[in-house]
Amino acid sequence: MEQETWDCKLLGQAAGSGNEFEAIIRNLQRLGRCLSVPITRIQVPYFGRGPVDHPIISLEDFIRFMLPNHSEKLLGGYKVGSVESQLLLSQFWSRYRRMDPSHVVFEDFTSLSHVVPLVLYGDEGTGVRKHPVWILAWKPVLFCHTSSWWRSYLYTVAPHEVYSGYKGGTSMGNACLDAMVGNFVSEAQKLYHQGIAIPGDASGRLFFAFIGTAGDLPWQAKVWRQTRHFECDLCCPYCKITKDDIADLNNVSDEGQGHQPWDHGTLPLLLGVPGFNRMNMYRHDIFHLGPLGIARRFYCSALVLLCDWGFFEGRDLASRLRAAYGNFRSYCAQVHETPLVKEFTLSNIGRGSSRSYPDCSFKASDGKLIMDWLQEFLDKPWQFDGRGVLKCLFRACCDYNDFFRL
Ligand SMILES: [Zn+2]
Repeated sequence: MEQETWDCKLLGQAAGSGNEFEAIIRNLQRLGRCLSVPITRIQVPYFGRGPVDHPIISLEDFIRFMLPNHSEKLLGGYKVGSVESQLLLSQFWSRYRRMDPSHVVFEDFTSLSHVVPLVLYGDEGTGVRKHPVWILAWKPVLFCHTSSWWRSYLYTVAPHEVYSGYKGGTSMGNACLDAMVGNFVSEAQKLYHQGIAIPGDASGRLFFAFIGTAGDLPWQAKVWRQTRHFECDLCCPYCKITKDDIADLNNVSDEGQGHQPWDHGTLPLLLGVPGFNRMNMYRHDIFHLGPLGIARRFYCSALVLLCDWGFFEGRDLASRLRAAYGNFRSYCAQVHETPLVKEFTLSNIGRGSSRSYPDCSFKASDGKLIMDWLQEFLDKPWQFDGRGVLKCLFRACCDYNDFFRL
């Protein structure tokens, strides 16, 4: 603790130096609080400014730094070169093969015990003054720590001023972002084909293969240059289902399945990543579909129904929701968790105007707790109703939780 106070004091000396940013970085380096990974500069056209030296953290440099120092973060908790890590990699790929047998990794490598699976990840988050910031990062599939600090490694970021001026829709690409993606693709190719020498093992090399892109749909639509995506009438990148079809799911055919959702004239740069030349490489965005999507709708409706049916005491819905929250809080105390949401009210579960279906904007972490609590609550020996609604709620909770425990 004392050391930290001392460090903070030294960092504080950067204030008033004229160039606070440079000074604070220099002091952080002096204190040994920086990773020794170089920042590389590549030429990227900024909108309205032309080519600029743009900073990236090279994939290769980062992995070269990790191998001798933190290799277990890439290998499910085992050190590089260990028998366990090799077994883990072989087992991972033999399972993965059942799901995606046409990945080129199965043709190119006879032994997969030296091939590390990675995922490309991106987002368009909110930055200064609520303006978007575009993020490109990568993740080891076999991570060993649940905190995102140890699961996602930054490649580069771009504030919206430098790229959003290049217009032309998702399918045309974006000169600024493409320069960064293009650089990433050539690094991914090199790590796949040439690999990196294992430190302390003269003949050993570790290779790296990407098995998909993860991230929210707007980011994926852009980076894959999709002509069919969630904002179009042809709203599915996997098949030609239209927005109208979704209203009547009985009528859906799989017409057009397998038709690639990009134009031949403007193929996505990502097709250059080994294994990415197929349609299943843009992965479903289960974070937004689940915890921030169907789960919210589901648990809000379930809450209203349970209140309505008298599972929580009170003279009206508002007081019953308070009772439900009390029950939820005692569950959280039992499992040693603290939810961010501090009450269930008519307005925060969307019952302010009773015409709308219940919904909320609770955080994903709260959604997980609420779904776990509901499962436990519904598992109590209640008398199920004749129409099977409670039983259906309970099954839905169990299935959802089983799926998201993966
Ligand atoms: Zn579809």
